Amino acid sequence: MAAAIISGENIVKYYGEEKILDIEEVVIEEGLVLALMGPNGSGKSTLIKILSQLEECKQSKIYFQGELVTAKNRLAVRRKIGFIWQDPLLYNTSVYENIALSLKFRDLSEEKINTKVGEALTRLNINKLANKNAKQLSGGEKQKVSIARTLVAEPELIFIDEPNTSLDIDSINLVEEIIAEEVEKGVSVLVVTHNFYQAKSLADEVLVLKEGRLVDQDRPENLSIKEEGLLKYI
Ligand code: ADP
Ligand code: MG
Repeated sequence: MAAAIISGENIVKYYGEEKILDIEEVVIEEGLVLALMGPNGSGKSTLIKILSQLEECKQSKIYFQGELVTAKNRLAVRRKIGFIWQDPLLYNTSVYENIALSLKFRDLSEEKINTKVGEALTRLNINKLANKNAKQLSGGEKQKVSIARTLVAEPELIFIDEPNTSLDIDSINLVEEIIAEEVEKGVSVLVVTHNFYQAKSLADEVLVLKEGRLVDQDRPENLSIKEEGLLKYI
């Protein structure tokens, strides 16, 4: 078995009285595409947030590349993780600036930043939007800006939460191509999807969450739950 890019132990999370997650162990192997599936409210987004240190889960232990995440290395770990949220929060400035801001922590020349942002704009096919205010974009355009912003930061692990929701077919295909290219480079990707066919074509492994519990993790063709059954509850 390859090394884990990220893993979590004892992920038990309550919101008020309600137990949202109860996961003894979850391991995400390096260099793979994983699809995270499960009904609405099963805890998918919360699990991603806990793994990536955006949501607290006191008794859990999260390891990034084998190292326990603590207060000391939390920020460094976060910077190695990229997120593409369902409803991306963009800054009230141009698309160009929104993407360039991802590079602000790096010691890069103006020229280098310009090149990197230009490459990302081209990759997402959004050159025309560069000078538009990001707040004025459509949902799908925002999603693409958010993807470009994530990619320029060159994360080692990317979490993508339901990318299909506001994207048209061409854009979904583009995102799938980009995921494949990133994985080719050695990046690990976890994508939340309700589309079992997408999971099958894209993912090396599928994780299934149900009522906060990890009920399955396997290669898509080996899932113990029959395909039809799985489709029923996704
Ligand atoms: P999924 O992404 O699988 O749809 P979520 O992780 O978003 O599920 O949510 C799991 C459950 O936790 C849902 O019942 C949701 O209402 C609840 N929940 C999520 N975030 C919060 C929060 N900040 N406060 C209270 N309840 C929350
Ligand atoms: Mg969600």
